[in-house]
Amino acid sequence: MSDKKISVAVFDAKPYDVAFFTAANAKYGYDLQFFEFHLTSLTSSAAAGFDVVCAFVNDKVDAKTVEILHKNNIKLITMRCAGYNNLDLEALMNKIHVTRVPAYSPYSVAEHAASLLLSLTRKIPHAFNRTRNGNFMLNGLTGRELHGRTIGIVGTGKIGKIMADIASGFGMDIVVYDTFPDTGWAEKKNARYVTKEELFVQSDVISLHCPLTPETRHFVDDKSISLMKKDAVIINTGRGALIDSKALVHALKHKAIGGAALDVYEEEEKYFFEDWSAEVIEDDTLARLMTFPNVIITAHQAFLTQDALTAIAETTFENIRQYFAEESLTNEICYHCGASQTNCPKVNKGRCF
Ligand code: NAD
Repeated sequence: MSDKKISVAVFDAKPYDVAFFTAANAKYGYDLQFFEFHLTSLTSSAAAGFDVVCAFVNDKVDAKTVEILHKNNIKLITMRCAGYNNLDLEALMNKIHVTRVPAYSPYSVAEHAASLLLSLTRKIPHAFNRTRNGNFMLNGLTGRELHGRTIGIVGTGKIGKIMADIASGFGMDIVVYDTFPDTGWAEKKNARYVTKEELFVQSDVISLHCPLTPETRHFVDDKSISLMKKDAVIINTGRGALIDSKALVHALKHKAIGGAALDVYEEEEKYFFEDWSAEVIEDDTLARLMTFPNVIITAHQAFLTQDALTAIAETTFENIRQYFAEESLTNEICYHCGASQTNCPKVNKGRCF
């Protein structure tokens, strides 16, 4: 590499991205250009002339986008998030390397999930709105304690395990479901691995912490909801499409479940991270969800802590440094085996190709 600075086109950049990326860049000196708009096939030509593209959860790295980025000689796509369901890995294979930030601060997400849970079960948004208006009545604010109740955690990875610790602090019983169980951890933490069906039947709270994959899409659907207790609540800080939103609306409407707190939504790309307060929301499912008194929605903010944003910027920049220093790509998203290339037999010298 010559003395020319490595140039990075950062898509879907919000003021907090600009602030934390600029601060972390003092150590790296990259030439950063922030674009407010999403990366899609229609906007990808904005990356022409850059070395690296930095994208986020709602950017669309589909086959067409990949083709344009590849034509424009983009060498690396560095995702500033953990999830990678918005990438067409097959299209990327042997063309552009992709890295991500597999762990920035799992505490940020688990703590947000816990905040949503308590806000829902203790009706904090209602209480806050009331006292703001000078209404100090308690009618309708009766909550439910978590102590002694059962939480079902789906996905016992980094975030799910922290959620289990938090729930255990509340004195909850913990049941868990994961396709790759960590039985040693479960034994130490007094958590019980159960089947998916058992988790839905037994839980008072269901918290989703698995990735979105073809297998987990609509993990919560009509069928699984029919197994749930009538007063059980669902917390989703994973990915929107883990829940079939129409099935959720149906269940809430018919009082088949106790409530839901959602940080992610199936069709969130159009709305989340943007100001729609003066616009008409055309998505009837989202609009209906917002009307239920027992639903709380936050707009994909679980990751949004100072600690996490600092870690995200540093890991993203370190991923870029590794690429241009021709080192192993510690956080490469492997085209062959998915998230982690650690044991992938096709990886050569720490890279997918
Ligand atoms: P992780 O990789 O550490 O853990 C994921 C766990 O899910 C693993 O134990 C894995 O075995 C399990 N899993 C995979 N497929 C499964 C299946 N079919 N059924 C059940 N379990 C399955 O990931 P993490 O860091 O704990 O993050 C979990 C998810 O949280 C991410 O994939 C991402 O989608 C989401 N996330 C959301 C935010 C946010 O701001 N809302 C931020 C970060 C991550």
